[in-house]
Amino acid sequence: MAKKRKRPKKRRKTYSTIQDHERQGKKLVPIWRQYPNMQPISWMNDRLPDMLWAALLVTHFPQNQVLNVFRLVIKYIDSLPEDKQFGDITHTGLSKLPSERLDEVLSIILVQEEHKQILTSLLLLDELPGREAWARALGVERSAGDWRPLMIAIGCTLDHQSQESTACRWLRLRCAMIENKLLLQDQEAIKGILYYPNYGDLRSVRSTIRALENAISGEEMLRENTTERFAWADKFWDECLTKTPCYPFNVGAEKTDILPGTTVERPGEVYSCLVEHTHNTRKTSGIDARHDIVFGIGFYCLQLLQELLRVGNCYSIGGRTILRTIAECYITLAYLAKKDDIELWQSYRGYGTEQAKLAFLKLDESDDAPSYVNVQTLEQLANEDIWQEFLNINLGHWNNTNLREMSIAADVKDVYDQFYDWSSAFTHGNWGAIRDTVFDTCGNPLHRLHRIPRQTLRALPDVVPDACELVDKILEVISQLYPSFPHRVAVKI
Ligand SMILES: [Zn+2]
Repeated sequence: MAKKRKRPKKRRKTYSTIQDHERQGKKLVPIWRQYPNMQPISWMNDRLPDMLWAALLVTHFPQNQVLNVFRLVIKYIDSLPEDKQFGDITHTGLSKLPSERLDEVLSIILVQEEHKQILTSLLLLDELPGREAWARALGVERSAGDWRPLMIAIGCTLDHQSQESTACRWLRLRCAMIENKLLLQDQEAIKGILYYPNYGDLRSVRSTIRALENAISGEEMLRENTTERFAWADKFWDECLTKTPCYPFNVGAEKTDILPGTTVERPGEVYSCLVEHTHNTRKTSGIDARHDIVFGIGFYCLQLLQELLRVGNCYSIGGRTILRTIAECYITLAYLAKKDDIELWQSYRGYGTEQAKLAFLKLDESDDAPSYVNVQTLEQLANEDIWQEFLNINLGHWNNTNLREMSIAADVKDVYDQFYDWSSAFTHGNWGAIRDTVFDTCGNPLHRLHRIPRQTLRALPDVVPDACELVDKILEVISQLYPSFPHRVAVKI
């Protein structure tokens, strides 16, 4: 076989497998959705904008320096009388503090001049909660208009697991722990959090911090009015979208180590050999459904492969549709070959004729003629085997089943899973295929990786090696049913 790239080593799974899902009627439900009141909450969308000041510091200065500032804030809150302590260190939370207390917190955060310079970019945001107090503490009314610090801050903390995000989430957790008197049974976990990042296995400590910060956020959602809680986040993203431009990631063509599946000439050569083999195996000039279908599918798929070899087609959306058709042809042929029942061969053939009759009757009644089909051709097809007046029209599947079931019966479910599922998304115009094909991702972090239209067509991965593999499987079936046909399209290059 002239294929294929080797799959990279399987990654450690950080996701649920199909088997981990629970089947509920026609749905596969992941574990987290099996808890009725569990709602996903988003660090990026909802919480990050509220921790912007911390994100700006942690992405512009050494971690130790910034964590010291965070520790001073924690110490300040801890030193307040118990009834004055507060746990919400977000922009929204700070804006609700009495102004004297807010000024004290800001004076801790802004103790260094270089911190002030970076945090001045907060003033680019007209709707910032507590903006007046920030402007007063920063000693300026407006920022100079440089959005880069905000872009860097957001770019490094969009990922909820990055080290910078974890530092912000640690601060949020620590403050909430003071207010809520949060107690943990696990003394090691408590030490890991209190002395972060200087105690314990950091991988485990960070993951505990993120899990607990997530938990307190879920608590907040249950306790508070979420519209108010996330109002600033929505305004922040809106302001960023309005005031800063989009620019594409400009990702180059995808690197691929897939070898070409065949040569330009090879499918044509095999086609000629198959024509000869058809003549050599024909036994009658009457209707031989088995013979016609077996060789017909072979020719049809060889033609499709030749179409794929025309310039650009193998990288196109249409290429995926062609691949799906070849996969469907193979599964159908494998199923018919496995059963090898004359009634089934006839049923498949008859269904095609009935569809021609149905299409003919519909188009013949219509005033407008579509360009892709000739109505007279349809009439001939409908009447080729039998006068159409004797022809029923089956409105269901020709075998009262579906392709998935046929692939299981024919022991080719692997082909269905590999080549039919995702290629169908392109044929049906499913969202996943549309997203993958015509949209790029915006490279401006302040737009939280939203989608923008591509300026140029995207070259999708080459479908030819897969198409060659399937066509060769079809030729193998032909060779089994009408021995022997040794020619194959895949070529080692
Ligand atoms: Zn954008």
